[in-house]
Formats: sequence, structure tokens, C-alpha cells
Amino acid sequence: MNDLDMRSILKCVRCGTCRSVCPVFDVIGWESSSSRGRMLVAHGISQGLEVDESVFNSINTCTTCGLCEQMCPSGASPVEVIENLRHQLVLKGKMTAAQKLLRSEALEKGNPLGEIRERMAWLGDSEKDVRDKADYVFFAGCLASYRYPELTKRTFDILKNFGVTVMQEEVCCGSPLLRTGSDPSELVSKNLEQIKKIGAHTIITGCAGCFTTLKNDYPEDMNVIHVTEFLAEHLDEMELKKLDLKVTYHDPCHLGRCNGVFDAPRQIIESICTLEEMASNRELSRCCGAGGGVLKGYPELATELSKKRLEEVPDNVDYLVSACPLCCTNLKRGNPKIEVIDVIDLLEMAMK
Ligand code: SF4
Ligand code: SF4
Repeated sequence: MNDLDMRSILKCVRCGTCRSVCPVFDVIGWESSSSRGRMLVAHGISQGLEVDESVFNSINTCTTCGLCEQMCPSGASPVEVIENLRHQLVLKGKMTAAQKLLRSEALEKGNPLGEIRERMAWLGDSEKDVRDKADYVFFAGCLASYRYPELTKRTFDILKNFGVTVMQEEVCCGSPLLRTGSDPSELVSKNLEQIKKIGAHTIITGCAGCFTTLKNDYPEDMNVIHVTEFLAEHLDEMELKKLDLKVTYHDPCHLGRCNGVFDAPRQIIESICTLEEMASNRELSRCCGAGGGVLKGYPELATELSKKRLEEVPDNVDYLVSACPLCCTNLKRGNPKIEVIDVIDLLEMAMK
């Protein structure tokens, strides 16, 4: 445990504010599944506490949503402590089967999904529009490439009109490894090499996990923006028609609370239709339940977290819109009463 983490742990005055907002504690109910409990477990490990299954469950069920950090009156950084602790344990060979699988799939296949299919197949007939040199690169991400190929192609088909290209040999950004304690540097180098070759000054991505990783964890100081930020700047050039719809918006934690992108997706939505906010929104949004390796490692917990978030959908809206493929995937797993769509799907409807 490094000094900064120890300082953060010691900053914790055990007030329990984080416990009252932690979505995981809300579902599991044990102190060890709250931020405060995880800080105590982290302190215990620094004092020699044996790492058994219950410790793994405490440390690995955090979605890294950051709500505890947002609310902590002492200025502690539980997410950093938890992520660093995961990393320390991995360095000692202490990891769960799910963590091992994520790491081996990402490093061996270039994606944590274990896919061996051609990653860029989503391009289809848009392959001819890929440029060798460009100022902007669209980073599609693993989940979007393999699970949402049509949406990903539609996104690129809009972006290419503004001179955006893609990397022909894109690999996982490294987010699943970073969030679960493994070293992503091999993947990071492969992506950086291509970005440099293209000569791009800005990376655009539609995934909140890729966004925070490219922006905050890559060694190079790159300009990274979310696709909603880019498109919000170009709304005037897109001839969008108004739709007679009312939708609500789920803020992805790693886009909104962790990086402050709240307005751009709302600007797009409000230029198309009526937006009605979810019960918790913007900085205080409740997590969808998928991040931090929770969907992979604890799928049943991820479903329960999704159900809780869905309880916050207002009545009488036509769609639940988000701006991240992982959020959309997990919100769909919670059995929503309305369709869950990406903001690009909504944009597409207004372009027809
Ligand atoms: S809110 Fe901060 S100080 Fe209070 S228990 Fe949680 S981590 Fe500790
Ligand atoms: S980051 Fe989110 S899930 Fe993790 S301890 Fe904090 S509030 Fe709970």
C-alpha cells in the first residue's frame, strides 16, 4: 500500500456517508460491501489481514462508480484505494477466476469478451472511408465493436463526414484490466503506436470506460472527447428533425461524475425531443451496476444493481437513453419496461 492510499484510508473518519449512497451496499447490505467497510478491509490488509474469499468479495464488488468519493466529507479517495489494492493483490498473484479470465482474454485476443472474430468487421462498406492520416480518430471499443456493430458503424458514418478515421488494428483500451488490477501497458502501447501513425490530435469514443481510460490513464497527454461532446458541437450541421418523444437519460458514472460530461448528451437529446430526468441524475446518478469488473465477476449483483437503477426511470417516457455500451447492456439485463437505447440511436431517428 503506498503512502497516498494510506493517507486516504486514515482520512476516513468512518462517518458512514458513503454507506448511505453506495449502490452495492444497498443491495448486499453487509458493511464490507460499502465504501467504509472496504476502507477498513484495505487497512486490515496493510496490517496483514489474510486475503480470503470474503476479502475478495469486499474489494471486487465495487463498481468504481465514484459516488462515495463525491459525497465523502473527509476528502478520502476510496476508488483509488480500491483500484490500487486490487493491483497490489494481483501483483502477489491473488486474483479471482473472473479477473484471470478478463486479463488473459484481453491480452491474448485484444478484447475481454474472448472474441476471435475480426474486430473491424463492423465497418462493412465504410471500410473504404478509413483514412491513413487524420486529425481525429474514433476509438470504437470492444463492446461496441462486437456487441453493437450496427450502432458502431452508424456512429462512424456520422463522424466520417467530419474527417474522422479509425484505427485498423485497434485493441482493447485496457480499461477492464486497469479496473480489476492488471497491467494494461501492452494494449496501451499497441493503441498509442497507431494513434501516432495516424497523426491524430484528438481521440473520440462512445464508451464511458474507454473514455476515462484514454483520458486519464494513458501515459501520453492526449485530447480525448466523448462522441456526444463532438456531436453537440456540430448539431447545427446535421439537419435534425424534432421527434414527438419523451425520454430519460442515464449518466454513465465514468463519463459524468468521474469526468464532468453532463451537458453534451443532454444538449443532443434536447435538440431532438423532451428530456425528463431520472430520480438521481448528473453528479448524484446511481450506477447501472456493470463497471469495475462487476458484470463479469458478479453478474447476479450487476442485475440487481440494474433493477435498482431502473426503479428511477420516470413514468410515461418512451426510451431510456444512455451514452455507453456497457451501461446500455446492463440496463437491458435488469428487465426494463421501456427500450434502452444509445444517444446515437436517438440521433439516427432524428436524421431520417
Ligand atoms: S464518507 Fe468518507 S470519511 Fe465517511 S466513512 Fe465513507 S470514506 Fe470514510
Ligand atoms: S465507488 Fe460506488 S460501488 Fe464502489 S464503494 Fe463507492 S459508492 Fe460503492
